[in-house]
Amino acid sequence: MRPATEGWTQARDTGGRPLLQFDAPKRGKPPVHWADLTPEERVAKAESLGLPRFRAKQLSAHYFGHYADDPALMTDLPRAGREELVAALLPPLLTPVRQLRTDDGATIKFLWRLHDGALIESVLMRYPGRITLCISSQAGCGMNCPFCATGQAGLTRNLSAAEIVAQVVAANAVIRAGGIAPAAVSTALVPGSSLPPSAFDVEPESDPAEDDAVPAHHRVNNIVFMGMGEPLANYGRVMQAIRVMLAPQPDGLGMSARGITVSSVGLAPAIRRLADEGLPLTFALSLHAPDDELRDDLIPINDRWKVDEALDAARHYFETTGRRVSIEYALIKDMNDHAWRADLLAEKLNARGRGWAHVNPIPLNPTPGSIWTASDREHTREFLRRLIAAGVPATLRDTRGKEIDGACGQLAAATAD
Ligand code: SF4
Repeated sequence: MRPATEGWTQARDTGGRPLLQFDAPKRGKPPVHWADLTPEERVAKAESLGLPRFRAKQLSAHYFGHYADDPALMTDLPRAGREELVAALLPPLLTPVRQLRTDDGATIKFLWRLHDGALIESVLMRYPGRITLCISSQAGCGMNCPFCATGQAGLTRNLSAAEIVAQVVAANAVIRAGGIAPAAVSTALVPGSSLPPSAFDVEPESDPAEDDAVPAHHRVNNIVFMGMGEPLANYGRVMQAIRVMLAPQPDGLGMSARGITVSSVGLAPAIRRLADEGLPLTFALSLHAPDDELRDDLIPINDRWKVDEALDAARHYFETTGRRVSIEYALIKDMNDHAWRADLLAEKLNARGRGWAHVNPIPLNPTPGSIWTASDREHTREFLRRLIAAGVPATLRDTRGKEIDGACGQLAAATAD
């Protein structure tokens, strides 16, 4: 089975290859927000408005510590001019369009409208011991993957740092208000599977050293950049947002770098740049095929940086940060789920050393009639077995959010129609 779009036509460049967009079309910029500024810039901003320096800390404590942007709640600020001040410094960035919840209430998908009408989404998932938020880094995406709803319309624009941070603040506000249910303990990721329990051994990602001003169960402690967009194509803003997430409260969200996962389809130079930032972030490479022949069509950026270049960059990430890299691999029936591809993947990883990468095969939704459908249980089991037999750590990923259209971009695409 070869990759092909279903129900839409992939934009092509002059050479006939799938079009890759690195530069967003020019659009109005979102308003500058408190979260776009460094702590020093916030103090300077407060002073430029005739306020004492400590007002900057107060405002930060409201936004990053209490997830509040309502002036009525900021009673420590002078009443006179408070509303105007908050409107100027914390302008609304995300307008809720829709929220979808799973039946058990432990997963919520948010659809947000930005100031210019662009739509983005984030997905909040509560697990035993951690709360994960999957966030968007761009409106749309320029990477043009043939299976992806987000890629269909191309890149609308890069998100600002504050628009990225605001997704976390909004999720924290929902958690604080008791808006997400406790997670049920579930290990049955593949119904009826006889995979060994170790195959489901999900690596804990929270860090005991995390700043605990707000109890961990009251806020997001695990972020994955796996919503709309290719994070490394919006490198500057994504790093700016991450620095705000890492800054101790009240200057930022006080999160642990280990709890933040940046994913990429393989922008090799940017992966190396990320490694050289000196932050122990988690890095995930969305590989999905170990051979260029298939990956050229499955992930069009492979035209620019081949499988080996992406893996070399991922290995550099491990060597520089000491952080084990995640290799994401969506198992697609008859397309990339062959035993020989599991062997080739293991060979390529082992050729670069042992234990530096962890493979996460991800079962897709079973979609009857589509070429983009889930591998069957036998192929899934065999793929995993071969990796593990070759000494490659591998874990079947949870596919939380299936029942609420969890695949990246689908909800926004449906609403835009
Ligand atoms: S799969 Fe990811 S990188 Fe590819 S088009 Fe979709 S959002 Fe972009």
